[in-house]
Amino acid sequence: MKQIRKKAKSRRRTTIFITGGVMSGVGKGVTTASIGALLKARGLKVTAVKIDPYLNVDPGTMNPIEHGEVFVTKDGLETDQDLGNYERFLDEDLGRINYMTSGSIFQTIINRERAMGYHGKTVEWVPDVPNEIIGRIKAAAEIADADVTIVEIGGTVGEYQNLLYLEACRMMRLENPGSVLIGLVSYLPVPGNLGEMKTKPTQYAARSLNAAGLQPDLIICRSAQPIDEPRKRKLSVSCNVASEDVIAAPDVASIYDVPLKLEVQNVAERIIAKLKLKKNKVDGKKWRELSARIKRSVKPVKIGVVGKYFSTGDFTLSDAYLSVLESIKHAAWHVGRKPEIVWLNSEGFEKDHADFNKQMKQLDGILIPGGFGSRGIEGKMMAIKYAREHKLPYLGLCYGMQLALVEIARNELNWKDANTTEINPETAHPVIHLMDEQEKKMEDKNYGGSMRLGDYPCVLKKGTKTRQLYREEIVRERHRHRYEANPMYREDFESKGVVFSGLSPDNKLAEIIELKNHPFFIASQFHPEFTSRPFRPNPLFLGFVKAAAQNKKR
Ligand code: GLN
Repeated sequence: MKQIRKKAKSRRRTTIFITGGVMSGVGKGVTTASIGALLKARGLKVTAVKIDPYLNVDPGTMNPIEHGEVFVTKDGLETDQDLGNYERFLDEDLGRINYMTSGSIFQTIINRERAMGYHGKTVEWVPDVPNEIIGRIKAAAEIADADVTIVEIGGTVGEYQNLLYLEACRMMRLENPGSVLIGLVSYLPVPGNLGEMKTKPTQYAARSLNAAGLQPDLIICRSAQPIDEPRKRKLSVSCNVASEDVIAAPDVASIYDVPLKLEVQNVAERIIAKLKLKKNKVDGKKWRELSARIKRSVKPVKIGVVGKYFSTGDFTLSDAYLSVLESIKHAAWHVGRKPEIVWLNSEGFEKDHADFNKQMKQLDGILIPGGFGSRGIEGKMMAIKYAREHKLPYLGLCYGMQLALVEIARNELNWKDANTTEINPETAHPVIHLMDEQEKKMEDKNYGGSMRLGDYPCVLKKGTKTRQLYREEIVRERHRHRYEANPMYREDFESKGVVFSGLSPDNKLAEIIELKNHPFFIASQFHPEFTSRPFRPNPLFLGFVKAAAQNKKR
């Protein structure tokens, strides 16, 4: 008891809110993550929180074209891709507490109200909603024992659904004026007919903050070219911010150059001075090395990513596979190669076989990421068969493993009707089937947050390629799926050269498979892309890209 009473000296908590101006999708997440990395490089403990103002409780049930990637935290929350950016830049695991949506906030408040948690008082939009938001931000800071908590508010400041978050920011600042900073990440357009960079939209964004009772401390200017001095002065005067606090954040070749671009403008030092944080020596060596390594990697390695969520109208989106893309990059740079990603739409393969062969021939490796539903799966299995027969390196992730087993069942075991019950519940060969605990959830239409989510241990079999890559017996990786390989067919698969190289500790679930007599054919039920970091590529990606790079030499 005595020890508990002797409270450890807690750190002073400070918070930086990052808001958006003019438009979203300009790299607020990467900016937030980069600021975090720079502060961490000064020995500070940093954590980050993402707020998505929409009413979905989490993005797990949203269409990938609508939302982009669903990033799964270690403790099993389906979150936004920015959490992935934070984990990669901060090199820290984050959790449920680092993410919130308006839906999740209201759900908590309403549940609390129903349980008499407000003791019969009227529950008000203000202050009860901001108080819940503030409570979560503070909890995230406590859990990480952070000196600095960076809170990114999704979308832009003028939006109706952002108001309560800005109010939370205002209330926190009022409570502790020297410990809360506000950054505005804004976009500066150069209209084609003018050829001149315009600051007015950013001025209006700063006004929107002012209208919410807030004053930005930093304005980070996203633009194609760096903002020049006269425009910095203009923003400084009109937005009431020192000229040195108007920061240029032009487009860069690699997002991992962003911390370096911000560093030369003293962003972290300005923040440290404003928040009166203890100044530590900067250790930016690993970022400089990474940037140099990226520039040195010129010889390409060509990876085909076969998926279906690529087009919206006339635009092609790769956002749905952001972590996969980053993981390929991490691994490629690690082996000194330039990652060249070819986005292949599996639906197209099914229609045009000649084009399919042409596409396959140019590749050094094939990757099939996670997915759901029937659209495009026959094309994916064509690619798997090609990789298997042409000894082309293959990495399958989640659906990419399930479909590999279906393909092998159909073409090697000759069970032509083999399938996953996700597609054909009546198949006589359900090689992939619903997990027991999932069955009931599906019957009850309980879709949100009800998959097998988050990290689970996996035991790697001795003597396998997988074990060689991980160099460990037990690894933990993150999952997001409802179906699994049916253990009934394990021996049949083994007779065709499939090795179940990773199993759950109780041996029930197949977590990784690999093929004998193939230079690299590995597929996992989990998503290794969620644990790859620029300084520590995930072993499966590293092995895959290495094999693909060797393929080129042959
Ligand atoms: N649709 C498959 C399942 O639910 C795979 C999911 C995924 O690839 N993330 O099991």
